[in-house]
Amino acid sequence: MIVENNLFDSHMYKEVIRQYDEVSDLINLDSNIRERLKLPQRSLVVTFPFRRDEYDEVETVIGYRVQHVLSMGPTKGGIRYAPDVNLGEVTALAILMSWKSAIVGLPYGGAKGGVAIDPNPLTRAEKQRVTRRYTAELLPIIGVDKDIPAPDLGTDEQTMAWIMDTYSNFVGSPQPGIVTGKPVSLGGSITRRESTGRGAVAVGQAAMEKLGKSYKDSRVVIQGFGNVGRYAALDSYERGAKVVAVNDLGGAVMNNDGLNIPELFKHIAKNPSVSGFSGGEEYDGEILEVDCDVLIPAAVGGVITSSNAEKIKANVIIEGANSPTTLNADKILRENGVVIIPDILANAGGITASYFEWVQNTQNYLWKETELHEKLIDVMLTAFEEVWTISQKQSCDLRTAALIKGIKRVAAAKLTRGLFP
Ligand code: NAD
Repeated sequence: MIVENNLFDSHMYKEVIRQYDEVSDLINLDSNIRERLKLPQRSLVVTFPFRRDEYDEVETVIGYRVQHVLSMGPTKGGIRYAPDVNLGEVTALAILMSWKSAIVGLPYGGAKGGVAIDPNPLTRAEKQRVTRRYTAELLPIIGVDKDIPAPDLGTDEQTMAWIMDTYSNFVGSPQPGIVTGKPVSLGGSITRRESTGRGAVAVGQAAMEKLGKSYKDSRVVIQGFGNVGRYAALDSYERGAKVVAVNDLGGAVMNNDGLNIPELFKHIAKNPSVSGFSGGEEYDGEILEVDCDVLIPAAVGGVITSSNAEKIKANVIIEGANSPTTLNADKILRENGVVIIPDILANAGGITASYFEWVQNTQNYLWKETELHEKLIDVMLTAFEEVWTISQKQSCDLRTAALIKGIKRVAAAKLTRGLFP
């Protein structure tokens, strides 16, 4: 039965459901389970008081935590701090997390959290107060074997440390497994930070091999030089590819002979932006439209749209960021023969490394860096092979193939558990 409601309405939710509907049609998904998976199992909306350092007045802040599917294990997903975050966006992201976990075969359902506040002007003390109170509000539904948060936009390792501390204080014992993406000193993973970028490049190279192209001989352009972008750049450089342009919010730098990425790492350690790097020239054009073989959007969502899709010169796009390509742009690119490694596969190295962190925390076990890296690449390449096989069998693009894999697995888990009561 179709449930009519506008509780979760948002542009992003509509896009995620449109995509889901298209794939559900393709695989003839049982109509009952189809409707069930459009809505999250649990959504918690909280409001709490917040006082800034220099003001007497008390603001009311809204926070969300959405758990999409509770059938396959605990739920897992990041928490974002952004002024315009809403229930629909958080729900859409939670649904995508369910597909992503299922694509790489992790024992999780999808979740996501959000606090509607601009993190940029917050002092450290203010951010800490917001985080601790939000965590306290989430206590009834989070837990090491219930729902495990992680960082997302506007939150970081320090935020995770405060969540862990708040939760541990309430529970009465240290609980490192309550969050992933925390500092190494608190049981965080030594490779978590680089896993998303490196995982993305590993599947990118695997895809290019299938297409008869060489990653090593390719020219790579990367948008964003944060966690994902910089390790995608380093990994590309280590594989012998030429990273010809990168940018961030402060500007762009270009070198047709390839940027020296280890040197760029040294530059970014002392400067706020890649701009000003002496090993390249400043570039003030559209980075996504630079001539290259491989484009890695690794900054924010919605950057490749129907307005610029025709201008993209890359023939392979590896989606490091979440939802960088709108559905309309995706169609245009496919018609132009561009192969897209979709976000739900390409950036799944992040949740995979989080899974390793959580397993180590719950078992009080430590893996070496080389072991973690090998396990990551194994999970990513296995998932890629499965997605590639589906795309060949169904004659479809990799995004559709990845969604087929993810949705089928989640639907099978729900159907196998049956109805309660
Ligand atoms: P980050 O905050 O570490 O870095 C973001 C980078 O993008 C910064 O260099 C910033 O200056 C740049 N940037 C922001 N807006 C930009 C714009 N409009 N144009 C150019 N550059 C811009 O973030 P991150 O952790 O690297 O995440 C990047 C993307 O990857 C996000 O979409 C995130 O949701 C997604 N993602 C991250 C992970 C992870 O493990 N970090 C996992 C999965 C998905």
